Amino acid sequence: MSVTENLAIIREKMEQACRKVNRQLDEITVIGVTKYVTIERTEELIAAGITNVGENRTEELLHKYETIAKKANWHFIGTLQSRKVKDIVDKVSAIHSLDRLSVAKQINNRSDEPIDCFIQVNISGEETKHGLREEDVIPFINELQQFEKVHVVGLMTMAPHVDNEEELRSIFRQLRKIKESVVEQKFAHAPCNYLSMGMSNDYHIAIEEGATHIRIGSKLVGS
Ligand SMILES: *Cc1c(COP(=O)(O)O)cnc(C)c1O
Repeated sequence: MSVTENLAIIREKMEQACRKVNRQLDEITVIGVTKYVTIERTEELIAAGITNVGENRTEELLHKYETIAKKANWHFIGTLQSRKVKDIVDKVSAIHSLDRLSVAKQINNRSDEPIDCFIQVNISGEETKHGLREEDVIPFINELQQFEKVHVVGLMTMAPHVDNEEELRSIFRQLRKIKESVVEQKFAHAPCNYLSMGMSNDYHIAIEEGATHIRIGSKLVGS
């Protein structure tokens, strides 16, 4: 299927989810996750109108960036090693996976401009997933005040691969609750207005629960 065909299906489902909860489609940013696909397919995605592109490995992001560069806004969505921050920090619009002070410190040292960061939270508690535990989120954001280049725009989570809609909904709901508790702190460096949650199998549920950024790979560009 072409990206345009996939996108039409996704937009329809996004609209349905928006109607259910009285939200507007333009409140939601679609990040096309291109980690499985080629540069050609990524260019097809951009031509279809999706200019926010997500990659989870620095090497692959740099590889695509060499060719595509400024035609897209690049989002780093994977686990980031401190020593690789310098390679991508001047190329990305946002980092969705911040959960370590060592990475925040590198962002601060290596960037000239403030960088939009999402704090990754591990709601499901799965050992294999990265991200902070709920109780550590506000203390972590508090510590980030020392790094003036780190601008906390929101929270991110990855839901487990399950089909149970109620379980997924409850995870997204919890992330939203934590986000609201961060907003209440009125941190100058952490407005935390955004929720990066929802992937190919659950984006419609995430939208109903307040997602502002959905990250879609397989259902959009294929896998
Ligand atoms: C791969 C990936 C996605 C997209 O996954 P799909 O299920 O293919 O939509 C979203 N977010 C992160 C962090 C990923 O690594």
